[in-house]
Amino acid sequence: MNYAIPAWDIPSLAVVGSAERFPVRRIFCVGRNYVEHQKEMGGDGREQPFFFTKNPCHLVPNGGDVRYPPKTENYHWETEMVAVLASGGFRIPVEEANGHVWGYAVGLDMTRRDLQQWGKDHGRPWSFGKDFDQAAPVGPVTPAAKIGHPTKGRLWLTVNGESKQDADISMMIWSIPEQIAFLSQYYALQAGDLIMTGTPAGVGRAKPGDALVAGIDGLGELKVKILPPL
Ligand code: MN
Repeated sequence: MNYAIPAWDIPSLAVVGSAERFPVRRIFCVGRNYVEHQKEMGGDGREQPFFFTKNPCHLVPNGGDVRYPPKTENYHWETEMVAVLASGGFRIPVEEANGHVWGYAVGLDMTRRDLQQWGKDHGRPWSFGKDFDQAAPVGPVTPAAKIGHPTKGRLWLTVNGESKQDADISMMIWSIPEQIAFLSQYYALQAGDLIMTGTPAGVGRAKPGDALVAGIDGLGELKVKILPPL
C-alpha cells in the first residue's frame, strides 16, 4: 500500500499467554446494562438496549498512564467486561452468538459525564462525552478457548485502594449473546469488533493522581493512573 502520509498500526490488544495481538476494528458500547447503574442514571430498570461507539484509536491497551482529559469537570470511570469477536455476521441468532466471541477482557469506559449530560439535555451526540483521547483502557484478552464464555463472576473497581464498584457480571440486563444478536440487526458485525458490555453501579469522579484497579474474575486486573491535565 502506498499511503500519502505514513500509516499507523492497527489498534490492538494484548493476548493473555501469547505474544500475538488481537486487532481491533470497531468498539461498540452498551448503555445502562445493569439495573442498579440504570437506576443511578435515572432509569426505571426496564429499557431496550442502546449502543454508542468509541474510536479504536482511543484504546489504551493494558492501561497505564491516562491523561485527565480536557473540557471536563466530571470525568467518570465505568468498569466493564469486554467481549471481542473472531467473526461476525448480520442478524446473528442469540444461540449462535457465543460462537463468534474470541475472548474477554477488563475495560474502562471512561466518560466526560458533564459533556455526555450536555448532549442528553440538548439532543446532541454523545461523542464528546464518550469518545475522546484515551477513553478506552482495555486489558489483555483471555481467549474463550481457555475459559469458555463466563456468565457469572465478580467485577470490581478500587480507586486508591478504596472499593468503588463491586458487582457480578450475572447482573447484566442484556447478556452478551443478546447484545450481539441485537447489534447484528443494525450492523454486519465483523472480526475484530469489540463490545463493552456495560457497567454496574458505583460510577464516580476520577481525579488527577488517582490509581484505578479494575478486575473481573478469571480476566485479571487493569490498572490505570490518572495524570494531571495538560
Ligand atoms: Mn459504559
